[in-house]
Amino acid sequence: MNLEDYRGIWVFLEVQQEGIAAVSLELLGAGRQLADKRGVPLAGLLIGDGVRELAQTAFAYGADEVYLYDDPIFHHYRTESYMRAVIASVERHKPEILLYGATSTGKDLASAVATDLQTGLTADTTMLDVNAETGLLEASRPAFGGNIMATILCKKHRPQMATVRPKVMKALSPEPERTGTVIEETIALREEEIRTKVLEIVRETKEKVRLDEADVIVAGGKGLGSKEGFELVHRFARSIGATVGASRDAVEAGWIDHQHQVGQTGVTVTPKVYFAIGISGAIQHIVGMQNSGLIIAINKDPDAAIFQACHYGIVGDAFEIVPLLMDAFRQMADKEVQYG
Ligand code: FAD
Repeated sequence: MNLEDYRGIWVFLEVQQEGIAAVSLELLGAGRQLADKRGVPLAGLLIGDGVRELAQTAFAYGADEVYLYDDPIFHHYRTESYMRAVIASVERHKPEILLYGATSTGKDLASAVATDLQTGLTADTTMLDVNAETGLLEASRPAFGGNIMATILCKKHRPQMATVRPKVMKALSPEPERTGTVIEETIALREEEIRTKVLEIVRETKEKVRLDEADVIVAGGKGLGSKEGFELVHRFARSIGATVGASRDAVEAGWIDHQHQVGQTGVTVTPKVYFAIGISGAIQHIVGMQNSGLIIAINKDPDAAIFQACHYGIVGDAFEIVPLLMDAFRQMADKEVQYG
């Protein structure tokens, strides 16, 4: 493999019901920085049915080029058809780096492509950089149970690939008048060749917790002692209109559903305010909430690690402190009603 033949930074643009997925736009922001540092173009790889207009969104968010497959065969995401499209484009145009959102689609596709192309893939990356001279992608992520950050290089194979979790990178402010080049891609692929068929789509009826979009999160941990104790977190969250988060130990104790879990094996969150109540501050939890605007921790152990990661720390028993906070917020709200 001649590494010199590979040039350009690509982002797989995942299409969701509402358009290009937010994580793909965030990756265009990160990709822009890498492309500028390397002095190469930034491209989006857009695959779908009736998705042509979305190319303009990609340009507005920083792409110079969009490689486009717009064909009914790509109406639904299927590993086989999408991976064949990605591989065909990669073999034709040879990008040096290809980034995907760490969504279920992105993870599925990236691993299939990496296996077929026999190249490296760093999963759940939290930091990206590139060496301007060598072009080596520096993809960092927590490793060994989150106790260290590892920077992973792919020295001998191309493209260098990584998946990145939603909300970790920042999208650029869109410039609607920005334009770019659309490159039409084709692939000889017949429906009969694809082994999977989508017969029906059943949408989950259980209400989805949007922790990653919440402005205020009240998260509880093992320190709440029991399922009944954890009710305090729900009450506090309800009283201030916050979303409930949790540590893994609280989830594993069966006090709350996994979709509320914040951290390395849960959701990465960036609310304006994050309350950590009875949470010790293990690194696997911290990596999921450290970019919150304001972190307030309540813990009865003054040496708890969470106090190294918060802006305000309250040492004390959650069952005493939280009711006091609820009273204080209620009084503030009453005053607002009184004085407007
Ligand atoms: P504990 O560590 O038991 O802490 C409880 C805290 O509550 C203590 O600090 C204690 O002082 C305090 N406390 C006790 N009583 C009170 C009280 N009455 N009032 C106030 N404070 C009180 N963890 C995550 O959270 N998210 C993840 O995504 C995640 N992924 C992981 C992935 C891997 C590969 C591994 C190995 C671990 C992962 N963990 C994750 C687990 C993590 O290492 C910790 O075990 C976990 O975060 C601890 O949860 P906790 O803080 O609720 O419990």
